[in-house]
Amino acid sequence: MSDHGSQEVENTHERVLDAHLDRYAQRTAGMTASEVRALFAVANRPEVVSLAGGMPNLAALPLDSLADEISRLIVEEGQQALQYGSAHGVPRLREQICEVMQLEGISAHADDVMVTVGSQMALDMVTRIFCDPGDVVLAEGPSYVGALGSFSAYQAEVVHVAMDDEGLNPDGLREAISKVRSAGKNIKFLYTIPNFHNPAGITLAVHRRAEILEICRHHGILVLEDNPYGLLGFDGQTYPALRSQDPDNVVYLGSFSKVFASGLRVGWVLAPHAVREKLVLAAESATLCPPTLNQMIVSRYLETHDWKGQIKTYQEQYRQRRDAMLGALEQHMPPGCDWTRPDGGFMVWMTAPEGVDTKAMLPRAVTQRVAYASGTGFYADGLGSRQMRLSFCYPTPERIQEGVRRLANTITDELDL
Ligand code: PMP
Repeated sequence: MSDHGSQEVENTHERVLDAHLDRYAQRTAGMTASEVRALFAVANRPEVVSLAGGMPNLAALPLDSLADEISRLIVEEGQQALQYGSAHGVPRLREQICEVMQLEGISAHADDVMVTVGSQMALDMVTRIFCDPGDVVLAEGPSYVGALGSFSAYQAEVVHVAMDDEGLNPDGLREAISKVRSAGKNIKFLYTIPNFHNPAGITLAVHRRAEILEICRHHGILVLEDNPYGLLGFDGQTYPALRSQDPDNVVYLGSFSKVFASGLRVGWVLAPHAVREKLVLAAESATLCPPTLNQMIVSRYLETHDWKGQIKTYQEQYRQRRDAMLGALEQHMPPGCDWTRPDGGFMVWMTAPEGVDTKAMLPRAVTQRVAYASGTGFYADGLGSRQMRLSFCYPTPERIQEGVRRLANTITDELDL
């Protein structure tokens, strides 16, 4: 087709899209492309070192024995594995999830667990059952971009609570609550990532946990605890889950994405019983049930593989990458840069020197063959323009070092303008 012809097709396509504009539900106004996702296409070019995405590194998975186990599963239990299941999730897996949660001090009943299509689905379901348009969700600033996406899809308003080196600040939380309440708004829950925060790379100090829970309980605010990285402490350390300290007021989200395989899309939500029942109803209308095969693969994996050993392998792998990143930052970054020093998880949060706008700088960085996620995507209120998230989970230590060197050059060039 000639250029002219393809232009015409494009114009027609635009007109068709436009024709739908006034049909969309109001809530779609909050469904905007995440800055992080918009980056993926450029960041995935092989010559670009991507410190942007949060993809787990699956290189250490025992693929051959997994393949054997999956084919055994199909032969032995195929009729069930390839069939619909319940929206609640496969019972055996729900029991095993309770065993996994015990590692972080949670004692739970399998009835109160619902399996989800990754914890992303749980974020969506929890928001769906709690939030009307205009309701307020409190969240750390910065916060997880996928959660912000769910909140805005349901037209909830996010009010950020500042963090410091010890995580969510209790005084900041009190202030935010009284400000929101005096504006006559309804707070539905506090969304928090206590361990190895994405994107901040910070862990909520243990001595703050009871205080945060007490504030929320006192003010009648539910806590939504999102904990996909909790088992990825680099020294094997774990922290007491908020859920373990206040089971009746905490909805807990877990995931196999970071400790096993993200592509299987198996996560879970543990909720007080009545909330869990409501969630199952919401999930039924969204997906009928989570994929049975994937749940049974996870269940078999937990039964037949040394999954705790695999988590140790992941811890070691990510610790090496974190070390590579911190070492390179120390070596290359110009004065005026500051960054967090995570002791688990996937991310470092960096603040660039005054005068740098990380979103505006990104094209220059990509030209210099490095990508990062600019900070504004992690705030609902436009903050974060001097910040960036640097992920060390996926590239090799050598690539990380090279990427940080390129990024340092980019920042230096930007400052010289
Ligand atoms: N919460 C946080 C804090 C995350 O970092 C992620 C993944 N990046 C998720 C939830 C979603 O994880 P999944 O849907 O793969 O379980």
